[in-house]
Amino acid sequence: MAESSKPASGLQRAYFEKTCTYCGALFHVELSRQGGSNSERMFACPECGKHYEVLSALPPKVRLINARTDGKSGGYQETMF
Ligand SMILES: [Zn+2]
Repeated sequence: MAESSKPASGLQRAYFEKTCTYCGALFHVELSRQGGSNSERMFACPECGKHYEVLSALPPKVRLINARTDGKSGGYQETMF
């Protein structure tokens, strides 16, 4: 994967692990914090696609750690009006 990363001063990487509340998959989320330029970013569960939001300066990177535990294969259905 060719990815050009320009050095950004003041950018802080942060990591956390999250268990999807819908399918039970465990995934690793990497985000970047920068003073004053953080905003709500969407990221999706890599297994079911359920959306979450996190405060980050750049779009979060998501990496699957453990597969879903609900035994299903369908995607998360966002509530429709
Ligand atoms: Zn999920």
